[in-house]
Amino acid sequence: MKNYQHYIDGTYVDPVAGEWFDSTDPYRGEVWARMPRGTEADIHRAVSAAKRAMTTGPWASMTPSARAKCMRKLGDLVAANAERLAEIEVRDNGKLMSEMLGQMRYHPEWWYYFAGLADKVEGSVIPIDKPDHFAFTTQEPVGVVGALTAWNSPLLFIAWKCAPALAAGCSVIVKPSEFTSASTLEYAALTREAGIPDGVFNVVAGFGAEAGAALVAHKDVAKITFTGSDRTGAMIYSQAAKGIKRVSLELGGKSPNIVFADADLAAAASGAVSGIFAATGQTCVAGSRLLVQNSIREEFTERLVEMAKTAKIGDPMQAETNIGPVTTAPQYQKILDYIDIAKGEGATCLFGGGPAEGPGLTGGQFVQPTIFTNVSNEMRIAQEEVFGPVLSIIGFEDEAEAIEIGNDVIYGLAAGVWTKDIGRAVRMSKALKAGTVWINTYRAVSYMMPFGGVKHSGLGRESGIEAIRGYLETKSVWINTSDAAPGNPFVLR
Ligand code: NAD
Repeated sequence: MKNYQHYIDGTYVDPVAGEWFDSTDPYRGEVWARMPRGTEADIHRAVSAAKRAMTTGPWASMTPSARAKCMRKLGDLVAANAERLAEIEVRDNGKLMSEMLGQMRYHPEWWYYFAGLADKVEGSVIPIDKPDHFAFTTQEPVGVVGALTAWNSPLLFIAWKCAPALAAGCSVIVKPSEFTSASTLEYAALTREAGIPDGVFNVVAGFGAEAGAALVAHKDVAKITFTGSDRTGAMIYSQAAKGIKRVSLELGGKSPNIVFADADLAAAASGAVSGIFAATGQTCVAGSRLLVQNSIREEFTERLVEMAKTAKIGDPMQAETNIGPVTTAPQYQKILDYIDIAKGEGATCLFGGGPAEGPGLTGGQFVQPTIFTNVSNEMRIAQEEVFGPVLSIIGFEDEAEAIEIGNDVIYGLAAGVWTKDIGRAVRMSKALKAGTVWINTYRAVSYMMPFGGVKHSGLGRESGIEAIRGYLETKSVWINTSDAAPGNPFVLR
């Protein structure tokens, strides 16, 4: 069994405390690798390397175009290693090979896109109102970045965070989830092969309250970029405030997927399934509240149940599998607890509603795709993020009620709308309080399109041109061009 090592300053190193912890394959229910348990000492080592890289290291003096060349090379290397990395990801987090391979093949686009932006970061000359002054701004890297990632798509989050950070000229320390650290540690070797100088990309594995908290608290970390739950996000936000650190947060959701009677119902049903059962529901954008117009609710619900019946649960490596295991043991228990909570609240379980058992499922953490009806929006099952394949169906009468229910939740990550009425589509996209609104589609993402949440779903945006802004600071430079004697020093110039 492999004992992994941290990746610090361009080399793989043992943890300072000499301790490792187990990583479990969620399909077989077996320990398959051991991860280094990072502590404050490892974080300090990594932050020192990252700081050096940004001050005296070659990264600091490389031109943006030269940085971009390394980033493009990294994109090529990820493409060449897509299958191997996807396999590691599946082994560690149990998501479907078909999904992870798709993600890994698409992943290089973030490196190519942000490499293209690296040498287009420009300041401005300000036509300043003060005579005898020349004034301009520059855009400088914010500093050392601490990146904390969740377990559902570890490598995708690396691309989302590190591509804009490196394009801006920052260095990073990634602290992957303790449940899925292997792929990030394997990935690190590619950064070296790509020519990214030592200390620019570092990985310290370990637990959130230990390695994660030390990274957030470290005085030389200027910015924290976090993907995870809103509970942890709030904790990190307040901890980072003590050091006035820059923070971006990609948090959870309870997204409404809204089906109007005038929609293409076959497409909407497929979108509803993709919204909640894809990735075993372990996706931040899960369309876990399905709002269906009352006039078609019964018919649409039957359609969904028929589709859910055909979902094949099993080995995530097999191409025909639709629903794989739940990644972590605590998450598995949480999903089952929420199913009980929903039943206790009086929701009607139409389909599923418990652990999935049968041939090929022993050892793994499998939950049946589950559909609840008779859900009202104040129930916990309609308000709280489950992060599993559990759907709540809620009826609505008209557009106004759909908007009211859709927005009546603390989250605002995404929303789906299914309608053939273009006017309604535009009205809904304006009225829904969410970072992303999908019309007649669901779960589409791109390196070009900003992604992030409002309300409790987060702060800041990843992907798209504006993502790089989160890793830059504006500096204002004033130059006195006059030879005249200085004026009164006791007043503002
Ligand atoms: P989590 O909040 O438990 O952990 C996320 C990361 O934070 C992990 O690396 C963890 O080790 C670290 N962490 C935990 N406690 C910490 C602390 N005290 N200090 C510093 N770091 C700490 O989240 P999770 O269970 O890994 O992921 C699931 C959550 O992530 C869900 O809520 C989901 O919606 C959210 N998510 C959001 C997005 C998005 O882009 N908006 C994407 C995927 C997942």
